[in-house]
Parts: sequence; structure tokens; C-alpha cells
Amino acid sequence: MKSPFQIQFQMPDHPKGPDYWQPGRVFKTREAAEAALAKSQPLCPEMSAFRIIDRRGASRIVSEAKSRQTGTVVQVIDNRDGQDDGGDWLAICEHGSICGFDTKTAAMRFRPVPGEWCEECQQAEAVA
Ligand SMILES: [Zn+2]
Repeated sequence: MKSPFQIQFQMPDHPKGPDYWQPGRVFKTREAAEAALAKSQPLCPEMSAFRIIDRRGASRIVSEAKSRQTGTVVQVIDNRDGQDDGGDWLAICEHGSICGFDTKTAAMRFRPVPGEWCEECQQAEAVA
């Protein structure tokens, strides 16, 4: 894949819902995507959030949703090929915390509650 880094953005009024991430431009490097992001942000006040996705691992993402508990985006990754340490199925908070599980069912059960396994989410909740 030549341009694996994709900017995605969220709009509160999007027809697919406020949690939908609209795919945007793709870039060859994360640096280029970040530079474009820095430029475009002030031009798009209607967008509530941006992120950069590394699509080289996109096929492994089986689920992705914003947690109602913490407001962070949590992914469930199919890691049965063993690319990452931690378990066959991984829940990954947008903070970067990873929690491993033996089954997809278990990972999906813990995906909506990163406050139970992500230290940064726990700290954020303690402050709130
Ligand atoms: Zn977190």
C-alpha cells in the first residue's frame, strides 16, 4: 500500500452519526499527514475531531467505537497471527493501552469500558 496513512475526521452532524469517522486524504508518511492536519484544522470548524489512521494494520481491526464510559476510541484487533504481544485478541484504547484476551467475545465485552483496563482513562476519570 503506497499511502497507508489516512486522515479521518468526525462531524457532530454527520448523517451516519456523531461517532462516524469520515475517511479523508491519504499520505505516504505519518509526518505528511500530520502536517496537512495542522494546516486544515482551523479551516474546518464544523469538524469536532481529527485522527490519523495507519491503514497497514486496518484489516486486523474487527471493531472500533468510542466508549461512552470515557469518550475515548477503542479498537479490537485480531492478533491471531501474533504480530503483537499480549494475546489473540487485543483491545486498544486511543491512549495506547493494550489489553489482551483469549477470545473475541471477551475483547468485545471489555471494549466499551477502557476505564477498567486503561491507566490513562482511569486517571482521567479520577480527575473528572
Ligand atoms: Zn484510555
